[in-house]
Amino acid sequence: MAKANMDPKKCPMPVQDPEVRNQNFSEVALGYTAEMAVNEAKRCLQCKHRPCVQGCPVNVQIPEFISLIAEEDFEGAYQKILETNSFPAVCGRVCPQETQCEGRCVRGIKHEPVGIGRLERFVADYHRENVSAKTEEIPSNGHKVACIGSGPASLSCAGDLAKQGYDVTVFEAFHIPGGVLVYGIPEFRLPKDIVQLEIDQLNDLGVEVMTNMVIGRVLSIDELLNDMGFEAVFIGSGAGLPNFMGIEGENLVGVYSANEYLTRANLMKAYRTDYSTPIRLGHKVAVIGGGNVAMDAARTAKRLGAEEVSIVYRRSREEMPARVEEVEHAEEEGIIFHNLCNPIAYEGNEKGEINKMICIRMELGEPDESGRRRPMPIEGSHFETEVDTVIVAVGTSPNPLIKATTRGLETNRWGCIVADENGQTSREGVFAGGDIVTGAATVINAMGAGKVAAASIDRYILSKAAEA
Ligand code: FAD
Ligand code: SF4
Ligand code: SF4
Repeated sequence: MAKANMDPKKCPMPVQDPEVRNQNFSEVALGYTAEMAVNEAKRCLQCKHRPCVQGCPVNVQIPEFISLIAEEDFEGAYQKILETNSFPAVCGRVCPQETQCEGRCVRGIKHEPVGIGRLERFVADYHRENVSAKTEEIPSNGHKVACIGSGPASLSCAGDLAKQGYDVTVFEAFHIPGGVLVYGIPEFRLPKDIVQLEIDQLNDLGVEVMTNMVIGRVLSIDELLNDMGFEAVFIGSGAGLPNFMGIEGENLVGVYSANEYLTRANLMKAYRTDYSTPIRLGHKVAVIGGGNVAMDAARTAKRLGAEEVSIVYRRSREEMPARVEEVEHAEEEGIIFHNLCNPIAYEGNEKGEINKMICIRMELGEPDESGRRRPMPIEGSHFETEVDTVIVAVGTSPNPLIKATTRGLETNRWGCIVADENGQTSREGVFAGGDIVTGAATVINAMGAGKVAAASIDRYILSKAAEA
């Protein structure tokens, strides 16, 4: 290993200028050059106890792949990541590294951690741009598995099973596969062609993806298992049902859930000028919430041409669940933050269109069950503000359709499917993972759950075959 680079800071990520990027949908972060990647890789101390690996839900062999980058073996580094993570181009872009791998990095104790995510993205992009990979044909083992949904949980489950020779069919409700990676996360953070490439690689492995297939309506899990020859089913249907606050005026025209707004912007291509997508292009937009979804919605509204976009969040900046980087990017792009503030009603004009938001100021009390200080309204602090669009980003829940149409599937009080640490549900032959089990979480946790379930499905089918 070459001599360590003891620079206390990460090599900065080149980004588009904020004044330019807030008017386009191209990717904000431009990626490292080879020289930057090698320099950043040399910041890694190659720690023997490898704490960073414990912070990664899929155990990417971090010191090893970074060492290969330092030696300028970029393809070797890519192959090393692939041993445990099939989607490095996605994870390098959207993993909340600060709370995962980088959150455990020894260099981060006194200074900035090694830019593990940036390096992962670099090698994945290097591979895509420079290496023409051939997928080897894998002989079928004659067993059929169905995956419901095509988000990161199902895609990683399907990929792992296909690599072992299973005939895998993915059933997706939307007309495009990818789950939140394509309908939620905007183009400027995760370009769709990168996700599509990952899906193409699954197709090359023999995975069949059937779109416009709502399981629970077009087909049921019972039909998949009893009539269509699938020996196991993996449910990776996510948590895409938006929560609302239950306040007056939420039905007014111009009040969106973030899911609907982002789906229109992403899947219905409002981000392209050559498409005429039905979406309200507001002038004064308020986004309610403080998570990644709220940041994505606000930054999308700005790019679609809104004059003023504000985030309305009931706690303070310190409690915001969004990634620090995303909050900073939003601020740079001109998003206004109204923290310690909560809407209590919306009002509309005679056509039923929203034109006013009534808010109340908040203060923080004692910590609640989430460990964060509880926001409490300050009596008499109401104020009104003009808005023509409101985007509500206060969380999502699982859609109850699959539970309602499947016998013997246990769910908890939040509507999440109950599954054990192997992804096994209460129903034999039915496995689940990702947001449908945990509630809204992260891409890499969903991928990790998909991998665990793939291993369980393999054991289950082989043991059934041995019994027969
Ligand atoms: P999903 O990605 O939700 O995929 C589920 C799929 O199942 C969907 O395509 C859905 O259409 C389909 N489906 C649902 N019901 C059915 C049915 N009955 N039949 C067939 N198909 C069905 N995480 C991060 O790690 N980093 C981020 O930066 C980040 N940003 C986010 C931004 C937004 C706007 C959102 C909404 C989420 C973000 N997340 C982020 C969270 C992350 O995307 C999710 O945790 C992850 O996608 C969950 O994966 P999944 O496979 O469980 O479900
Ligand atoms: Fe870090 Fe995510 Fe890569 Fe794991 S997959 S090493 S958490 S960026
Ligand atoms: Fe390198 Fe940080 Fe992991 Fe140590 S903890 S091996 S410095 S990435």
